[in-house]
Amino acid sequence: MSDILTTCPYCGVGCGIRANLTSQAADITGDSAHPANFGRLCVKGSALGQTLSAEGRLLQPQVNGEDCDWPTAINAVVQGLQQTIAEHGPGAVAMYLSGQLLTEDYYVANKLMKGFIGSAHVDTNSRLCMASTVAGHKRAFGADVVPGCYDDIEQARLFVLVGANMAWNHPVLFQRIQAVLQANPEAKLVIIDPRRSASCEAAQLHLKLRPGSDVLLFNGLLSFLAQQGKLDQHFINLHTDGFAEALASAQQQAATVAQVASGCDLPADQILQFYRCFAGEPLSLTLFSQGVNQAIDGTDKVNAIINCHLATGRIGKPGCGPFSLTGQPNAMGGREVGGLANQLAAHIDYTDKAQQALVGEFWQAPKLVSQPGYKVVELFDVIERGEIKAVWIMATNPLVSMPQADKVKAALAKCPLVIVSDIYQHTDTLDIANIKLPALGWSEKDGTVTNSERRISRQRALSPPPGQAKADWQIICEVARAMGFTHGFNFSHTGQIFAEHAALSGYQNNGERAFNISALARLSAEQYQQLTPIQWPVTDTKPQGTTRLFADGKFFTANGKAQFIALRQRLLSPAAPATPLWLNSGRLRDQWHSMTRTGEVASLMQHTPEPFVTLHPADAALYGLSEGELVQLSNAGGRLVLRADISANQRPGELFVPMHWSAQFASQARADVLFAADTDPISGQPALKLSQVALRRFTPKWQALLFTKQPLTASQLALFNQHYLARVPLGSCQSYRLGLTDVLSSPLQLLQQLQLTPGVCCSDSGQGQLTGYRAAAIDNNQLQWLLLDGPALPQADQSWLNQQFSGPISAVNRRQLLSGRAGQGKAADNSALICSCFNVRSLAICQAITAGADSTAKLGKQLNCGTNCGSCLPELSALLKRQLSQTNLLQGA
Ligand code: SF4
Repeated sequence: MSDILTTCPYCGVGCGIRANLTSQAADITGDSAHPANFGRLCVKGSALGQTLSAEGRLLQPQVNGEDCDWPTAINAVVQGLQQTIAEHGPGAVAMYLSGQLLTEDYYVANKLMKGFIGSAHVDTNSRLCMASTVAGHKRAFGADVVPGCYDDIEQARLFVLVGANMAWNHPVLFQRIQAVLQANPEAKLVIIDPRRSASCEAAQLHLKLRPGSDVLLFNGLLSFLAQQGKLDQHFINLHTDGFAEALASAQQQAATVAQVASGCDLPADQILQFYRCFAGEPLSLTLFSQGVNQAIDGTDKVNAIINCHLATGRIGKPGCGPFSLTGQPNAMGGREVGGLANQLAAHIDYTDKAQQALVGEFWQAPKLVSQPGYKVVELFDVIERGEIKAVWIMATNPLVSMPQADKVKAALAKCPLVIVSDIYQHTDTLDIANIKLPALGWSEKDGTVTNSERRISRQRALSPPPGQAKADWQIICEVARAMGFTHGFNFSHTGQIFAEHAALSGYQNNGERAFNISALARLSAEQYQQLTPIQWPVTDTKPQGTTRLFADGKFFTANGKAQFIALRQRLLSPAAPATPLWLNSGRLRDQWHSMTRTGEVASLMQHTPEPFVTLHPADAALYGLSEGELVQLSNAGGRLVLRADISANQRPGELFVPMHWSAQFASQARADVLFAADTDPISGQPALKLSQVALRRFTPKWQALLFTKQPLTASQLALFNQHYLARVPLGSCQSYRLGLTDVLSSPLQLLQQLQLTPGVCCSDSGQGQLTGYRAAAIDNNQLQWLLLDGPALPQADQSWLNQQFSGPISAVNRRQLLSGRAGQGKAADNSALICSCFNVRSLAICQAITAGADSTAKLGKQLNCGTNCGSCLPELSALLKRQLSQTNLLQGA
């Protein structure tokens, strides 16, 4: 079978993939011709072949817990929607979409709701990641447009990363930045982030600012540029409005570096260094992501950055500009079709009635909506109040990703009709749906996505649909037709949908709307199939697409000028005494969203197997905590139990938790619980980066490692709701790390409640090698489960144990089983997995450094680490620095 060119389904870099799927395996490599990655893939993209198993997939529709065929399921959806509309009106129906959907899925969903059902209540999980950027772009440019392109990276000489840990979250783009830094000694990387992330390893300067003080920092930069005569007055006069007001507002709080230093809690010399760098380097690219967007003033932060680029005329030119990095693979595609509740379609929102009418005319829509719908936080509030009575959720898991998602769960529990389309049998959200619709996964879907640089790429199916799963667009169109909307939804393949979407973008556009891909509306099915990556706008005058926008200084505002926004830094109130610590959340290198895909890949789980909270050593000392102890975080929203990760990467008084863990992987680690549903008043985006919490030690009575061949069932997992549980898939078995309280006071009680009957057991009082109760069950020469307990978490060789679950167990290994390892004297290396591609752990790396490997290149030569995807290179650099400085200290001593 020949290679298929497709696109990675994870982050907004949008890397091209070359895939060859045989019946045995999937060979996934980077597409060397794709302009986003030129052949590179990060660790998540490289592991895509391991996510294609049919295990755990939802393969048949279900209505009220019963498997059924598609006609029954479609009928149940249609009856439910029609009955709701008949009794309560179309406004009682809502959809919640996802940046994981393809543009074609998004387009028909939006069209059905806003043009045919007549409900504007369509929002997308892009609200959680990109809404502030959308609002900031619209305020400044008059349209939601990323001005630049990835090629600007190779032309830039100053990179400013704001609230973006690109080394982990946009790794392939970060590697392009690193290549520029290595090739050009004068090039610089400045990082603005309250915590030291992996990206800082490559940075010349890290501004570890007080959380939420970004507006002040960039207002200070605007003041500094004015003071130093570094403004592009010609550009300001000719192409912008509002500069004087913006500067005056900036100078009120940030006229001097000293003011900024005090407000941002930064050394003045560091701020000055950054300001001088920016002022002196015209080729400056400011890249920003969730640390900017997910804030109560996210839109202001975006405009504070854009203000500085407008003031210096650094926009629309090679090597410079403000650059929003999208989180999801198709966050931009969702914005193009109008998937946000405050948009109608094709970059047309609700402010211009004439433009709205164009959409109605184009769609021949019987019920075109005329007012914005509810943004997602408000949407679930309205569902809770009972005003919305039917909701259809597609390809997203709001019971993990929404702030205080237990409230969302309570709202959905009250909602008479919850329809969920997903690819897995169990997600926190799917588990509570009335109607479950099996959708296609990444390797089965066909359509398009748009990445952070406005580049539309094809996603192509590698394999046929499994079971009865269907494409989202097909499910939506079947529902639409069954509701009687035949004329607008008679599509037989995605190329037809794309052509209509493209035609709408150009419909009576006349250059007024930025999003215009009308030149692609006439693609034949074959041309659509062969479509190569292209950046919008794509019009008859620009048939090859558009690399950069605004090169002519013309913007999409009413007068064609970019708008400065006058901004003031909002002041944070001090933390309340009961919740004295500030909490931040974010992503990890090897995980994606709520881990439904990546969490089941054993090699990806090894990098960070358990949920954790990072805290500064001073706070650890204050609370008397040691590394790896269990810790409870709490506030009015609920509580989390996590392992302590003590690191000076954090500012004192501030904590960090990963956003990924769901109830499918841990008992009490859903970060959403601790973040209130406070939103940016302009964008409606929730502030998922800042909350206040209390911390205390969580002291389990005993701890255990439980390995099972089959995953525990939902009812077995429910036993651990008040305890600590973290599930780590190992490949052939599941490992459960348990911290148990008095409620489950002994291993025997635990086994009883789990209904696990020991086949081999040994109770040890602490003599010799064993420290506690150990038991296992072997059935038909196959290991079924193994329990190791102790006052602290027992040590075991997980890799060896995983092998014992993979086939018949030998007599020798049977005897070793209860020791948890292969043999006496063989210590397990359970140190952190740094290189997931070649399974290289930190212990081996540190030993190699001590033995003389003093560069990442030497480490790569010796251990292979860092030589495939390169995602671990920042961690290798950090280990090298740490280990070499320790060695130097020892030698000095
Ligand atoms: S950087 Fe990684 S996750 Fe992002 S698109 Fe590329 S391969 Fe996928």
